[in-house]
Amino acid sequence: MHAFSYARARSIDDLLADGRDGDVTFLAGGTELLNWARIGILRPQRVLDISGVPGLDRIEPLADGALRIGALAKLNQVALHRETRSRYPVLSQAILKSASAQLRNLATIGGNPMQRTRCAYFRSEDPATPCNKRRPGSGCAALHALNERHAIFGWTEDCVATSPSDPAVALACLDATIITKHASGDRRLPARTFHTLPGDDPAAHTVLRPGELITAIEVGPPAPCSAYLKVRERESYEFALVSAAAAVELADDRIVRARIALGGVAMRPWRLEQAERDLTGLRAGSPETAEAITAAFGEARPLASNAYKIPLARNTAVRALELAARTS
Ligand SMILES: Cc1cc2nc3c(=O)[nH]c(=O)nc-3n(C[C@H](O)[C@H](O)[C@H](O)COP(=O)(O)OP(=O)(O)OC[C@H]3O[C@@H](n4cnc5c(N)ncnc54)[C@H](O)[C@@H]3O)c2cc1C
Ligand code: SF4
Repeated sequence: MHAFSYARARSIDDLLADGRDGDVTFLAGGTELLNWARIGILRPQRVLDISGVPGLDRIEPLADGALRIGALAKLNQVALHRETRSRYPVLSQAILKSASAQLRNLATIGGNPMQRTRCAYFRSEDPATPCNKRRPGSGCAALHALNERHAIFGWTEDCVATSPSDPAVALACLDATIITKHASGDRRLPARTFHTLPGDDPAAHTVLRPGELITAIEVGPPAPCSAYLKVRERESYEFALVSAAAAVELADDRIVRARIALGGVAMRPWRLEQAERDLTGLRAGSPETAEAITAAFGEARPLASNAYKIPLARNTAVRALELAARTS
């Protein structure tokens, strides 16, 4: 394993000063980072352990009705928190379907959206494997090879990978905001566009700059009628083939507002924006709602081995919306 220096940050000021020159890598739960260092995805020079910075794990309701979740809050802590469970069931469910209980006790909500694609070529230990994310310009091994787990939306010939995070799909559905600090200024980033698409830059995963710290995630007004469904090859400890997060507001049984985000289909959680508009005014659970969602898959572009994802993701979205509506 490549040698790196290790230090512990005691405060955010420490951390920003250390991150100023951009060559520092933050360590939170370490459940991703240490694997990357082991298989050569990342060769960090300086690792800064942020897990002991006080105050960054707080979960607190804000005066405007939003919920602020500190970046160092552990996944299980977020999922089981009273406010998350009652106001944002979709987020609680997405977290509880992530990884294993042991991992969720260590992994943080700030580190989770930072995880990198599970594309097997990206994670290959053979340095000759073409991968534009690992070695820009080397090509994409998945484009014409084993791509049954890859994207059906938003891909280019440079990269057909998907984002593996479950919580990120719920956060995109809820229009959450990712709050960051950086030596050059603070930012509020929409969770919906936090992950980049290959057309932006095939080598990137997120819009975060080197040395930029996620301090918290803010989730807006409560969405009690919401649900997350994850389809995977085995029931636990497995990444999604596809997933769907849905939140709905109803008047009687008519949809006033619906939000649907898909996971496992693109390099970012994929919102079904046209379907969301078309669902307004429809009766929840009616055949018309399924038709509105089906229409959204007209723009899907399957690869050689993943056309199965189109009906699977469509059915998952329809079912997630029904489950969300049923909780009203
Ligand atoms: C076997 C296994 C199965 C898994 N299954 C799933 C699954 O089904 N669903 C799912 O969603 N996830 C899954 N995961 C991913 C897991 O949830 C992530 O590893 C975890 O959430 C990362 O959080 P961490 O705190 O350990 O991050 P770390 O490993 O500490 O860091 C990961 C990256 O995030 C950066 N980082 C961390 N915190 C911050 C911050 N506050 N600001 C800026 N950058 C930061 C680090 O620098 C690093 O680049 C799985 C992981 C493993 C190992
Ligand atoms: S899909 Fe993306 S991550 Fe996978 S090999 Fe191609 S370029 Fe690399």
